[in-house]
Amino acid sequence: MEGICPLCNGIEQYKLQCPICENECEDKGREVDYNDKYSPYLDYDISAKADGLTEENSSLYCIHLFNCPDCNEGFLKIIDKIK
Ligand SMILES: [Zn+2]
Ligand SMILES: [Zn+2]
Repeated sequence: MEGICPLCNGIEQYKLQCPICENECEDKGREVDYNDKYSPYLDYDISAKADGLTEENSSLYCIHLFNCPDCNEGFLKIIDKIK
């Protein structure tokens, strides 16, 4: 059964801390919606995980884009979907 993303569905608020200035980043929604507009910074952890992300297990994860209002920088975070 396909999980649902707690962020997309408003069940949970997730605030990502900006790795540059440690401010709170805003959830901008699913990464796929922003594919062309941003070239998001990926830290090693996230990129390693993202490499293993396939069509098959995309039903388990939702990749969100967060934007730091101070740095005006986009960051990706993989959100585990819930059942
Ligand atoms: Zn989502
Ligand atoms: Zn920042």
